[in-house]
Amino acid sequence: MLRFSGAGVSDSGRVRDHNEDSAFIAPYVAMVADGVGGAAAGEVASATATYVVSAYALARFGTDPVDLVLQAVSETTRDLVRGVDTDPVRAGMATTLTVMVTDGDRVVLGHVGDSRAYRWSAGRLTQVSHDHTYVQRLVDDGALPAEAVPRHPWRNVVLRSLHADVSMGVDEVEIVELAPVAGDRYLLCSDGLTDLVADDEIADALHIADPHSCAARLVALALTAGGTDNVTCLVFDVIDGPRVCGDGMLLGAVRDIDNVVDAGSVRSG
Ligand code: CA
Repeated sequence: MLRFSGAGVSDSGRVRDHNEDSAFIAPYVAMVADGVGGAAAGEVASATATYVVSAYALARFGTDPVDLVLQAVSETTRDLVRGVDTDPVRAGMATTLTVMVTDGDRVVLGHVGDSRAYRWSAGRLTQVSHDHTYVQRLVDDGALPAEAVPRHPWRNVVLRSLHADVSMGVDEVEIVELAPVAGDRYLLCSDGLTDLVADDEIADALHIADPHSCAARLVALALTAGGTDNVTCLVFDVIDGPRVCGDGMLLGAVRDIDNVVDAGSVRSG
């Protein structure tokens, strides 16, 4: 039975005074969410998404992983809408979500926004998520060379996110079935890493065997490069073994339960 084994680190960085990233890692689910929005709402969006999706995944282990991701996203949207209804100053809050779920057999990636998922296998780094950004669309259309992305002035314009709009549909979420291979390593990260640290440096750091030391090294690279944004990295290996129990680890804004719109919204069963 497949599961994830790893750890993560989240840091406010050297410029921002608080952390709007949230993350969660457990044996069968891992995710990063990067919130945006004024008036202390970015952290509410990322924390609520992380809380709802993680609680949903923990309560419904064994559900078809694609259904699980889509249902959890739809629950998240409902809570974001409720969060704005309760406190209209949060209007406009939004978050990325990059989540990997396994039922012990399949591994599914659900993704919206510009956080990233990478696979590191046999020393080779492959980005398995697709950035929902303006510049990536230009690259896809052949209007911009990929090498020009890191310096493009509009590189942070995100075209898709989870937000508090009733029109938000789960079809915004990109679903990718990943070929699960025991021994493969995955990195989930916010753009606070990838805006500042090149892929070859990321690949080098992924050689560090201990996942926590590896995540800490990646975050340190972003801080050394300026730390201009919140930075969050989860590093985990796919392991084949007996089923385990584990609650997982919360990181970033979701560690403060006051950032979650309604901590009672997800019920088991
Ligand atoms: Ca960010």
